[in-house]
Amino acid sequence: MFRRTPLHLAALAVMAALGTASLPAEARDVVVHAGRLIDGVAARPREKVSILIHDDRIAEVRDGFVTPEGATIVDLSAATVLPGLIDAHDHIMSNYSGKNPVAERVQTSVIDTAFDSVQNVRKTLDAGFTSVRDVGAETSAIVALKRAIARGAIPGPRLWVSGYPLGPTGGHGDPQNGMRPDLDFHSDGRVVDGADEAAKVVRRMHREGVDLIKIMPSGGVLSIGDDPNHTLMTDAEISAVVATAHSLGMKVAAHAHGRDAIIRASELGVDSIEHGSFADETAYKVMKAHGTYLVPTLLVADTVVRVAKAHPETLNPSSAKKALEVGPITIANLGRAYRAGVKIAFGTDQGIAPHGTNAQEFALMVRSGMTPMDAIKAATTGAADLLDAAADVGSVQSGRYADLIAVSGDPMADITELERVRFVMKGGDVVKGWTAPAPAR
Ligand SMILES: [Zn+2]
Repeated sequence: MFRRTPLHLAALAVMAALGTASLPAEARDVVVHAGRLIDGVAARPREKVSILIHDDRIAEVRDGFVTPEGATIVDLSAATVLPGLIDAHDHIMSNYSGKNPVAERVQTSVIDTAFDSVQNVRKTLDAGFTSVRDVGAETSAIVALKRAIARGAIPGPRLWVSGYPLGPTGGHGDPQNGMRPDLDFHSDGRVVDGADEAAKVVRRMHREGVDLIKIMPSGGVLSIGDDPNHTLMTDAEISAVVATAHSLGMKVAAHAHGRDAIIRASELGVDSIEHGSFADETAYKVMKAHGTYLVPTLLVADTVVRVAKAHPETLNPSSAKKALEVGPITIANLGRAYRAGVKIAFGTDQGIAPHGTNAQEFALMVRSGMTPMDAIKAATTGAADLLDAAADVGSVQSGRYADLIAVSGDPMADITELERVRFVMKGGDVVKGWTAPAPAR
């Protein structure tokens, strides 16, 4: 039998004083009265609904306002309730500083970045994003951040992380690009050449705790020396990554701007194309046939165009020119992909635009031609499917985590309501209490 020694009791007393005693938590029953519910699944909002929550999960969704005995009521009867939102393309450890980016690269350490990320995850959670797929950060740091949130050490969204994106020597993910050749940026484990090396690095990243793999089959915009239109990975390299990742239960996200890279990555079985800037009708046909998601990242495209015009010196050399070419095309293309029937998952590429402004992506999606409901589904059930986590997040249905947000108006009529999230619950815990809008004057 387990005996409580004096030392153990003293430890418990200290933990209790710190509010972290690990005594068994009491079961909790909560009921949320939602004036209007957009559940992520139904084609239309429902009116006057009760969401019954037991501990951290949704037990049942019932019509009308009901209050089971012993349940604590959360009154959102004047609000629109939605599932916690999902950003499927975030860089939650990255911050645009507005300073010289080359100097930043040699003067800022991953530990500086890690401290800043504690604020970034809080801002993102408060903005209503209870789940985030991070597709590019220092591997050990982002895995540690994910674990810190999961054990409750710091508040933040549930994280699915890729760690370092993988690409070839001189490609979009190579930190040596544009740097003096004798400087060593420790590109081991992120720069991969050849199928064997790619497979080995994927296995190692799985061992280090990542949830998915991100690859860079095309060049990019914010890097030095690579061209977004170039295809930089061989079919053998892409196939090796996809086969190895899938066999380990991990999805593959492919950063791809150029048409050729988009088509080949989709045909070779990646799960999502990120950005997809220079896709044409053929590319959309291939993506549709293979069930490949497009993660459009309009917010970063919009932001870098503005930064490139106002402050080109704060981007890497040659990036401003690339941003002005690529940005407007990325934004215009979402409407074409949507009409072609390509599956779409919401993603912002946050890290240039300030953390917590993620929901600005919605207005850009609607401007590109998506209906408000389909834009919301891209950030709920769509993104959850891409994360392979639809049984846990992305909808208000029994069995899912009680991840809920609320806004005061109707996002069907004004999608920018989602930029003013007034209530956030994660796993049954209210992490941002309801704040009513200021009365009109
Ligand atoms: Zn990105």
